Amino acid sequence: MPNDYISREAAQEFFRKRSEEYIGHEPVPMSFTLTGVVNELKTIPAADVVEHKRGTWITAWIKGTEFQRCTECGTYIQSIFFANDYDVNFCPSCGADMR
Ligand SMILES: [Zn+2]
Repeated sequence: MPNDYISREAAQEFFRKRSEEYIGHEPVPMSFTLTGVVNELKTIPAADVVEHKRGTWITAWIKGTEFQRCTECGTYIQSIFFANDYDVNFCPSCGADMR
C-alpha cells in the first residue's frame, strides 16, 4: 500500500462534523471506536504532497580521487567540481535536501 498523507486540518474538520452528527446518540456510533476511526481516516482524500528526502554528503576516495557521495541515491560527484558546479544543498541526481 503506498504511503499517502492527509491534511491535519481536513482530518480535524472531518471529525468535528462527524461528532456533531452523533451528539446525543446512544450507544456510541461505530465510527467513534478505534476501528471506526481507522476506517474513517481511509475516507479522507490524500493531500497533494511531495516526499521531502534528506541526505548527507559522504566523502569517498576512489583510486586517489576525492568524491562526495549522496546517502540517498549513491551518486558520486568529484569533490574538485563539487562547490563550483553544484548547489551542494541539494543532490543534483535525486533532489535530496542536504542541508
Ligand atoms: Zn541523491
